[in-house]
Amino acid sequence: MENILKKLREIINSDSILLNEPMSEHTTFKTGGNADIFIKIGSADELKKIICLLKSENYPYFVLGKGSNLLVSDKGIRGVVLYMGGLKGIVAEGESVTSYSGNSLASVAGECLKNSLTGFEFASGIPGTVGGAMYMNAGAYGSEMNDIIESVVVLDKDNNIVKRNKDELKLGYRSSVIQENGDILISAKYRLKKGDKEKIRQKMSELNLRRKEKQPLEFASAGSTFKRPKGYFAGKLIEDSGLKGFEHCGAAVSDKHCGFIVNLGSARTEDILYVIDYVRDKVYNKFGVKLQTEVKFIGEK
Ligand SMILES: Cc1cc2nc3c(=O)[nH]c(=O)nc-3n(C[C@H](O)[C@H](O)[C@H](O)COP(=O)(O)OP(=O)(O)OC[C@H]3O[C@@H](n4cnc5c(N)ncnc54)[C@H](O)[C@@H]3O)c2cc1C
Repeated sequence: MENILKKLREIINSDSILLNEPMSEHTTFKTGGNADIFIKIGSADELKKIICLLKSENYPYFVLGKGSNLLVSDKGIRGVVLYMGGLKGIVAEGESVTSYSGNSLASVAGECLKNSLTGFEFASGIPGTVGGAMYMNAGAYGSEMNDIIESVVVLDKDNNIVKRNKDELKLGYRSSVIQENGDILISAKYRLKKGDKEKIRQKMSELNLRRKEKQPLEFASAGSTFKRPKGYFAGKLIEDSGLKGFEHCGAAVSDKHCGFIVNLGSARTEDILYVIDYVRDKVYNKFGVKLQTEVKFIGEK
């Protein structure tokens, strides 16, 4: 590790490099062990230099947004975590908004509102970054990133900064080509429409109120733990399996929304994984439906 650290310090400011960083501070589940090396990315150029080095050294890395869809191993992450949250900046121009990948969806929504642009309201309460949302094709209330994205700029697997148009992204239900091709998202350009500022504001607050009423936002979680199985709702299957409120060592099926597994305070990732497996088994035994996680597990097994 000393060797890679020395080389990293030659190309980026030492203040951007943290060692043994607790991932519980960078995930909305508030669990997970330490990352060996944690780097706050400050610019696309810096990212390119770092990736070039890590690839030439064959050193493992993971790209992190707000950690709102992740379950990090209690043993932590070996290698480098590249935290994209520092890559910020939003520009609105006519009916489009371009944002760097580290901006939160809430801040992009704020910019849309300021410029009376409609179309982004559905995403205003999703607690991720632009990068994580494109990776996941995040969506809510009948809309998803696919409906508003025009193009993105990525650092591709050959370390070139390239533009990709919407159709190249192959956005599907919580999936995108970025999950397969090793792209790192640098920025995204959204195509929106001029609208009425008051109506946009009202829609955002209505949707966010709906979230507060229906979702257990008072507890740490990563949102819906499971993908929606075709023809079913994961939450309903879990509730109908009698698992509402099921708890194991501080990890529980929310009694407000059974599709959410929450950390009541003291859970470790291991406990959350236990509940995930338990739920999967019970639902499969009762309904024959195999639940797939939307949440991604990362780190040392
Ligand atoms: C309370 C709550 C409610 C939620 N509601 C919703 C909802 O309504 N709809 C929904 O879709 N999701 C929802 N989520 C899940 C989550 O917010 C989304 O999946 C979000 O898009 C993840 O973004 P992130 O920045 O946190 O990504 P992370 O969790 O940090 O990472 C997720 C994946 O994206 C990759 N990634 C992150 N940034 C980049 C980048 N710049 N380039 C390449 N890859 C990158 C990571 O490597 C990782 O594989 C919710 C979560 C919570 C906690």
